[in-house]
Amino acid sequence: MIAQYGYKDGSGVYYISIDTEKCNGCVNADSPKCVEACPSGVFEVGEDEIDPFREEPVAKVREDHRNKLRFSCAPCKPASGWDIEKLPCVAACPKGAIAHSW
Ligand code: SF4
Ligand code: SF4
Repeated sequence: MIAQYGYKDGSGVYYISIDTEKCNGCVNADSPKCVEACPSGVFEVGEDEIDPFREEPVAKVREDHRNKLRFSCAPCKPASGWDIEKLPCVAACPKGAIAHSW
């Protein structure tokens, strides 16, 4: 399942998607890699909102960032050169579970 968080407005389309089939919540890590890597605190790991029967924790975009991702991600963009693979969260995820729409 692809979980999408974000919005579109007159300036663009701002979504972060997390492939919940790939994400394992970095179960054996002290702290999930995406949570550690993000300078804006965009991610959290917890209960799957899409599949309540899933027992494994999954990464999510925090509620308070879902309607302002353009601004939350400003520290990384355009510093990454608009190369999605170079974004700290995408580069840090060992499962390749994170994607951005912009
Ligand atoms: S780094 Fe990747 S695998 Fe780990 S919790 Fe985040 S999205 Fe999931
Ligand atoms: S692009 Fe930067 S600010 Fe945005 S979610 Fe990824 S690490 Fe966090």
